[in-house]
Order: sequence, then structure tokens, then C-alpha cells
Amino acid sequence: MMRQFELVELVKSYDPGADEAALDRAYVYSMKAHGSQLRASGDPYFSHPVEVAGLLAQMKLDTASIVTGLLHDTVEDTLVTLDDIERSFGSEIARLVDGVTKLSRLELQSDQTKQAENFRKLVLAMSEDIRVLLVKLADRLHNMRTLRFIKDDEKRRRIARETMDIYAPLAERIGMHRMKDELEDLAFAELYPDARAGIVARLGFLREKGGNIVPRIIAELSRKLKEDGLDAQVQGREKSAYSIWRKMQHKAVAFEQLSDVMAFRVLVGTVGECYHALGTIHSAYHVVPGRFKDYISTPKPNNYRSLHTGVIGPERQRIEVQIRTREMHEVAELGVAAHWTYKQGAGRTDGPQYRWLRELVDILDHASGPEEFLEHTRLEMFPDQVFAFTPKGDLIALPRGATPIDFAYAVHSQIGDQCVGAKINGRLLPLRTQLANGDQVEIMTSKGQTPSPDWESFVVTGKARARIRRFIRTQQRAQYLDLGRAIVQKAFRQDGQEFSERPLEAVLKVFNCATVEDLYVAVGQGIATGREVVNAAFPQHPDAKNKIVPLARARRKAQISDTAVPIRGLIPGMAVHFAGCCHPLPGDRIVGIVITGKGVTIHTIDCENLESFTDEPERWLDVAWTGDEADSVHVGRINVTIANEPGNLGSLTTTIGKQGGNISNLKITNRSTDFFEIMVDIEVADVKHLTTIIAALRATPVINSVERARG
Ligand code: MN
Repeated sequence: MMRQFELVELVKSYDPGADEAALDRAYVYSMKAHGSQLRASGDPYFSHPVEVAGLLAQMKLDTASIVTGLLHDTVEDTLVTLDDIERSFGSEIARLVDGVTKLSRLELQSDQTKQAENFRKLVLAMSEDIRVLLVKLADRLHNMRTLRFIKDDEKRRRIARETMDIYAPLAERIGMHRMKDELEDLAFAELYPDARAGIVARLGFLREKGGNIVPRIIAELSRKLKEDGLDAQVQGREKSAYSIWRKMQHKAVAFEQLSDVMAFRVLVGTVGECYHALGTIHSAYHVVPGRFKDYISTPKPNNYRSLHTGVIGPERQRIEVQIRTREMHEVAELGVAAHWTYKQGAGRTDGPQYRWLRELVDILDHASGPEEFLEHTRLEMFPDQVFAFTPKGDLIALPRGATPIDFAYAVHSQIGDQCVGAKINGRLLPLRTQLANGDQVEIMTSKGQTPSPDWESFVVTGKARARIRRFIRTQQRAQYLDLGRAIVQKAFRQDGQEFSERPLEAVLKVFNCATVEDLYVAVGQGIATGREVVNAAFPQHPDAKNKIVPLARARRKAQISDTAVPIRGLIPGMAVHFAGCCHPLPGDRIVGIVITGKGVTIHTIDCENLESFTDEPERWLDVAWTGDEADSVHVGRINVTIANEPGNLGSLTTTIGKQGGNISNLKITNRSTDFFEIMVDIEVADVKHLTTIIAALRATPVINSVERARG
């Protein structure tokens, strides 16, 4: 186990300004917190965080990362709380430790390797800081190095699988090839021990047969480059067992057919020298066609830069050669970490944290596809984003504050349009609920359902808002159109004319309309009346002359006088009337039903007649009373059963009158020898007023029963 002073010395070797006191405190704090806990290996548990810190120091990370490495398991595995960490080490460290802890918890929940891609995305999403991810990777690397101590076969395999599927690709994604190679190889050894042993044995056999060919090739390449005036360093290696195995699987070839199990690397000083070295090698050896790739002029998405080529090299061996500068090499091996440390020495003008972010943004800028970019953005460098999953596991990125409606529209416009409800993590929740990172969202849809205008008040994405607005506009137009057409047809009828669109086409100009449909819409909106249209179409008509004022009207701001209807959610200009079945009153919960050609009928929400519209949700309009209906008068309807005795009818009307109700209609619906059933329409102010009247009637002895009409 690395000792305290060794760790501090290692850190100071590359970062002389490191906070030595913080490192010391974290070392001791972690040691005390983990106390006598033991690892599966029998080592003190504390050895693990120290090794992780050591790995982070080898990556030359900043003090905060190394302190986090020392503390990374304290919150999850000891009595230490996040508050304790914050008090002792400050908010930055607390935030980083919290991030690593969250990732560890996430890990415990997931056993779906099928979801690997999503899990990787989620890990990225939850890594609020790239350092959280780096600590997590170092943690995983040490756990993989000590995997053999775990007794449970099942558990070992699970961890190895997870490493292969999730952490190795993540390491590659942020450019840490050395970490990726080791993670892969360790997982490979656990998952396919026989395959790995076979490949390693054959590599050994090849080496013996060739008499260790790698050093000879290195020597020859070095000589050729030197003769050409280049100061180059040549490295050679066998490819990793796992990469050979994968190639064998991928190309379905046997080991013997694999030609290039050796890879060589040429490191030079400048980009110019890279191309110079390429020229040297290409002129000295036969080039294998199709193997040359220039990742210097076009770097890979993770910022990998190098020239790749394949040649029939020294000793007629087919080899792969990578040519890069030493800086590119450092970046390729250590990824973002190197990127940061490399530039730290040269004129640092701002804090390392910002540098981290800037470098990462650079990498992101080079991301290839939108998918790639989206994935990278999961890092909460963009704290204004939230990431949620579909039931199938697709990840949807949304702005913070997004609701299930935004989610639905992000998945597909139609899903948004037809959304009727949402389950978040399996629970049915209101559509205005704000989503949190990692939420699984299931959108329930219903064919024929349409966007609700009040969604617009809580959606946050432009796409959702645009769709909702567009829908409202087209819906309005369709309704105006239907209404206008009905009005015009009626006006034709009243005038004794047979309806036809031909005379309308002739008068479009008069009404400033381009099409007959536009004319209907204008009539529906109340810009022109049906009468005016008929008069314009039949100017010979006796009283036509006096009545054509359409242009004047068109110029005026059109509004049918729906101001008298104290209801919100209506389409301006649309005809409104109250249903005769349920007689809605201010204070009732109400709904509007759009009747083609007639406008909107308002029903109470519990009206029995609504049942006939359940299959046509597109007709339903979400409406509500405005609350300024004080001065208006509405008709409520009640059904009364009263004993058939002299004077009883008088008591009924008197009681209603005393409560300030004005009977506008009264009808005996059923008369038996003992009872009358009477339907009474009463003008009242609102539902409260009607309820008072009903209560008074119920208190009247001669009245048997009183119910409000329900359609
Ligand atoms: Mn750990």
C-alpha cells in the first residue's frame, strides 16, 4: 500500500503547488473512517482508496481529484456523511464525493447489461464533473485489478461484464486508451479465460519462433528514420489479447490468418515531422492498400490524433504503424487528463477546473454525429439540462424544467399531440410535473386526442410550444371554417337561394379573401355576416344595396360579442350556448363540446349526454368560468317530486321566489294520483344560488324530493 508521504511526493512531482495539507488530512480521515474494514483480499479496506488516489496521481490529476479518490467510499461504506465531508474539506470536494457515491449507487441498481449503452449515458449524465467520472474509472480499475479475490463467481462475472460494457467504452470515449485497454483485458480474462489463455499462448509461440522479432523491427525502423534526419522514438508491442480476439470474432478469421498482431508507434516532435516520417516509411516499404488514415488533419471524435498506416515491414512482416507527436501520444494514452496536464505548465491564465471544461468542450466540438455530441453533453457542463428515459431505454435530453409534454414531443410530434397522461418511474403524475435526471417516463396516448391549449403555459421546449400553438391555430381555423360555412348556407336558405359556392367565388375580392374557405373563416370569425355574403353574391336582390358594408367591417377588429359569455378557453368568435340537458351554472365544472356548424355547447362535467362524445375526444374543449359572471343570469334546471295536494304547487313557487329565484319555465313531466314530477327552470346567479334554493325546497315538508337535472 502506498504510504502517505509517497502519495504526497508523487503529486508534488508533477504539481509542486498541490495542497499538501489537504492530501494529508484526506489520507488520515479516510484511514480513520474505514477503520478495521477489510477487502475481499484480506487487505485493510483503506488500501483501496489509497490505490485509487495513486492511480489518479499517475494520471497527474489535481489535488481535488486525489482527495476525492481518498474519500470516495467514505459516504457509501462508513458512518461519514456528506455534511461531514463538506465541513472538513469544503463544498467542491463534497460535491465530487457525492457524484462518485451516486454513481456507485446507480451501479447497484443496474443488472441490465442490455441497457449498457443507456447506462453509459446515464453515468455520463450523472457525472456532474469530468473528475467524478475519472475517480469512478480509477475506482473501477483498482476493483478489476483485485477482482480475483471475490469468491462469488456470479458477482465476479457481473462486475467484469459491466466493466466491458460500460466502463471500458467510457474510458475510450474520453480518450483514455491505456485505461480502456487494461479494463478490457482484465474483464476479458474473467469472462473468457480460455480464449485469452489460447491467444496469449500463441503470441508466445510466435515470439519464440520469430526469435523476438519486435526489437529487430524497432531497430530497423529507427535506423531508417534516423538516416532520413528524424529524431524519432519507435515503440513496438503486440496488440492486446482482447483486441486480437475481437478482430478474430469480428472478421471470423483464425489466429493464423491474422497478419498484424504487432503494432508500432513512431513518436516525433512536430506535426511536420509526422508527415516526414510517414514519407520515410512509405518509401522504404510496400504500403498495404486501404490502411492509411490521417487522424491528424481529421481527429477522431474523442480528439485522438495520429497517422495510421500498414506496410510490409522489415523481415517481410505485415505491421501497423502509428505516427504521432509526443504530445498527441500523451493525449491518446491519458485522454482528457493528459490534455489538461499538458497545457498546465504553459502559461496558465485560469484555474484548472475551467481548463478542464474548456478542453472538454474542445473535444465535444470535434464530436462526429449528433448522437455522439448528445452523449457528451450529458456531462453536466450544461447544468440546465435534464435527461430522462423512454420505457425502451432511449435517453431524451431536455432543458431543465421540462415536463412529460416536452418529453412526449421530443420523442415524436404525434406522441405529444396524442398525450393524455404520463407515468414517471411507474407512477401516474400530472402532466405539468418537472422531470428529474434519470426519470423513466411512459407517455400514455389516445388516438384522436389533441393538444390542450393550457399545456402552453407549462411546456419549456420550443418544439412542444410550436406544435401546441400550431394545433390551436389550425383547430381554430377549422372551427371558424365549419361555423362560417354553416352560417353562409343558412343565409342562402333564408334568402330562398340554392346553395352553391360558385357565386361566392365571384365575390371573394369584396371580402378581401383568396379562397372560399377563407371567406367561410371570415364569416365564422364574424368579420363578415352570412347576410352580407348573400347580398354581395346576389346584388340584384331588392335590399342588397343598403346592406353591403363588408369592407368596412373587415377593417374593424372583429369580435363576435362573446364577451357576455363568462367562459375561458373558448375560441374567440365561436358561437357558444349552454346545453339544455344539464344547464351549467357559474361554479359548475364544465366542458365544451364542439358541434360542427354550431359552435360550442357547454355541459356540466357530469352531464349524462357527454357519454355520446367519449369516442370523439377531438370535440372536447377544456373550458372554465372566468369568475366575472356576477351580473349575468343563468338558467338552472331541477326535477321536483311533490305530493299531489292542493296548495303544494304554490309552496314550491313561493319557496323558490323567497330565495330570489325566478321561474322561467315549469313543466309537469309525470302526474300520478299521489305525486307530480315537475321540471323547473330557474334563473339564478350561479350554482351556489341554485344549491340554496334546492336546500330550501328540501326543507319544505310538502316536497318529496329535489334533484338537479343531469342531462
Ligand atoms: Mn471504491
